[in-house]
Formats: sequence, C-alpha cells, structure tokens
Amino acid sequence: MSDPQNVTIVGGGLAGAKTAEALREKGYVGEIVLVAAEAHPPYERPPLSKDYLAGKAGFDDAIVHPEDWYRDHDVTLREGVRATGIDTAAHRVDLDDGTALGYGALVLATGSEPRRLDIRGIDAGHVHVLRTVEDSDAIRAEFGPGRRLVLIGGGWIGLEVAAAARGAGTEVTVLEGAHLPLLRVLGAQLAEVFAGLHRENGVDLRTDARIAALESADGAVTGVRMDDGEIIPADAVVVGVGVRPVTELAEKAGLAVDDGVLVDALLRTSDPDVYAVGDIANHEHPVLDRRVRVEHWANALNQPAAVAATLTGVDTAYTELPYFFSDQYDLGMEYIGHAPEGSYDRVVIRGDLASREFVAFWLDGEDRIQAAMNVNVWDVPDAVKPLIVAKTSVDPARLADPDIAYADL
Ligand code: NAP
Repeated sequence: MSDPQNVTIVGGGLAGAKTAEALREKGYVGEIVLVAAEAHPPYERPPLSKDYLAGKAGFDDAIVHPEDWYRDHDVTLREGVRATGIDTAAHRVDLDDGTALGYGALVLATGSEPRRLDIRGIDAGHVHVLRTVEDSDAIRAEFGPGRRLVLIGGGWIGLEVAAAARGAGTEVTVLEGAHLPLLRVLGAQLAEVFAGLHRENGVDLRTDARIAALESADGAVTGVRMDDGEIIPADAVVVGVGVRPVTELAEKAGLAVDDGVLVDALLRTSDPDVYAVGDIANHEHPVLDRRVRVEHWANALNQPAAVAATLTGVDTAYTELPYFFSDQYDLGMEYIGHAPEGSYDRVVIRGDLASREFVAFWLDGEDRIQAAMNVNVWDVPDAVKPLIVAKTSVDPARLADPDIAYADL
C-alpha cells in the first residue's frame, strides 16, 4: 500500500526510529506514531557492549535522535507503552495503557529478547543479560580489579563484554558450550583467532562447557556449577546465549511467522498493510536468493528506508547485504555477506592470521564469495560487495594475494 493516511510503528529501537526518519525524509506528510516499550527515546544497541559499556561514550552518543527531533518532525513518540494486540481487519493496534491506534500502514520493529537459561539459581542477584541501557549500566557496575565475572556464552555479547570487563581489570571467565567461541558463525579457523585473542588478554576461556546450575548465597550469585561438579567462583554472571525474535504480536494477529515474521523482498508481511523490519524480519532477500533473518544493527539501520520508499509510492525491495562489526581489545572487524554453517566449502585468507591483519572469504563449491570479514584492515566491505553480488567464481589464489586489487578479480 502506498500513501497511507497514517503509519503506526511498533518498536522503539533503531529500526523503529529509522522508519519514522525515513518516512519524513521521503516527504511523507501523514501522521506517524512510534510505540516504544522502553522509557527512552530510541537508541542504538552496539555501544551497550562496546564503548558505552567501557565507559568511553555516554548515552547521548547512542540515542538515534534527541526527543526534540520527534516533536520537530511531527512524530508522536509513545515511550514506555507496549502494543498488546493487532486487529488487521480493523487496522487497529491495542496498547497496554488501554488506548488504541488506527493505522493505514503498520510497521513492526519489535526486535528480539535474550534467551533465558533454564537452570537452578538463574534468578539470583548479580545475574544479568544484556539488552537495554539499564542492563549495560548494571553490568558495568560489576567491573573492577579483583571482581570475578563469568560470561555464559562465547558469542558476540560474551566476547565484547569480556573485552570491556578485562579493560576495567576484571577477572573474566567465558563458558562456551561449543568447541570454540563464534564457531557456528565463523567456522573453526577464524573462531580460533578470537579464542587466541581472548586468552592472550587474560580471559579464562572454557569451551565445551556444560553448566549445571548457579550457586548463590543470601540471594546473590557466588559461582557457576559445572556438570562435573567444579564450581567457578563468580561475583557476577552475564548470560549471552542468543536471542529470540519477539513475534507474539504478529503471531496473534495471524501473520505468517516462521523463525521471525515472514516478509517478501519489499519487507511486507502476509498482510499487505503490515511491514516488518530489523531482527524480526525473515526476509526473502532478492540478491542472496534465499530467506535471511539477521540479528544485527545494519538491518535495523537500513531496512526502514526501503519500507518508507514503498509507503511513499515507489515499491522498493531491500537489497543491502547483511553487515556487522565488532571491536574487542585492539581487534576491529567487519563482516559483509551471509555464510551460515553448511553454506560454504572453503575459507580463503588474504593477509596474516597470526598478526590478526587479514581478510577472510567464505567461498561456495563454485568459488563464489558468500561473505568476507576484514580484521584490522579497512575499506574492505564496499570493495568486496560487488564480488558477492556478482556471484561469479573467483580464482582463490588471486583472491588470497593482497597485491591484486579487488576490482581486478
Ligand atoms: P550469539 O552471538 O548467538 O551467541 C550465543 C553463544 O552462546 C553461542 O556461541 C552459543 O553456542 C552459546 N551458547 C548457547 N547456549 C549455551 C549454553 N547453555 N552454555 C554455554 N554457551 C551457550 O548471541 P549473543 O552473544 O547472546 O548476542 C545476542 C544477539 O546480539 C545476537 O543476535 C548477536 O548477533 C547480537 N549482537 C551482535 C553484536 C555485533 O554485531 N557486534 C554484538 C553483540 C550482540 P552455539 O552457537 O553452539 O549455540
């Protein structure tokens, strides 16, 4: 549907805020209401496990726009309010303050929430997850020399929090269930790079970890009990074992949901007046020719522009490749493309793994690049993007040669 009279956006994260912004940028003059469950204007989450957590940046650096912006752009920001139901036939969203909103078009940007571990002791004090700015504040308060922090999960949250905590002199143990941290995302060779990085920076990294329970005294966590009976002492625990997309509203509304809200190339759900963006969007990607649901910042940042273009009259598919970045100690990395476990046949390295200055490429059986990750070398994603999009086979030996320009491949 283009040119709706009013647009309601449910979800006050980056994707929700960017939807409002993109609509106004494209000249949309109808009513925009943004429903945000958190009692803050929308903010970006990457700093919560990086510079904000390390105390190097303030909350003002993380917010997408100050509150004035919403007023100045005639966007009604309903902070601290949750949507409780959607009636697609009546074009209505019910809110938990007893009111309801109509819509011509509805954009769902409800994001994801941390997976909880179902083990004894998980409700003890000083046990955290990381999703909100309050979570980040509470975790930072646990840092310091002599403090013992145990991270359950060696994924992006576990490793970024580990780096920030080590930076503050904290004693850090990471417990990863798999054989290596980031194993499923990166494969063994690259996962080893991150394992080495953390061990060199003083993290006690334990893999194939099986956790039985959390120990506590007087309501506060005191340690993590492993299934072999060992107890790892802890003053605080952060659980980062993945997230799940928040799709209950979409499901109750009868929208097609299967590992996220199913959307077409235009990010439109099974109801033509309802769109989904960000973590919840299971997107029919027109360039990758497959469905992808990406739990990373860049989708939340960029998908809204496509929806806003469609809503203002130009049907626009979302074609950007997945992208994310991470900073840990002195390692900075970027990743572009999509190479889930099982989708690639080999990894080609351009540069030097040992000194952690390289680009890794994931190639399929026909030597087509699926994804690339640059570590401590820069200006790579824009240069390799055309190679991924073109889907042509490359010569792995030339790809590995840093003297051959990407354009000449
Ligand atoms: P994640 O990246 O999916 O990593 C979770 C890790 O925990 C995986 O390595 C997983 O291993 C492991 N795990 C699962 N169950 C476990 C258990 N019972 N005991 C020990 N380890 C267990 O999720 P996350 O770190 O929680 O991050 C949450 C979301 O935020 C993710 O979507 C992530 O992409 C996003 N995020 C992104 C960035 C970034 O882009 N830089 C930074 C922070 C967060 P298996 O894979 O074997 O299950």
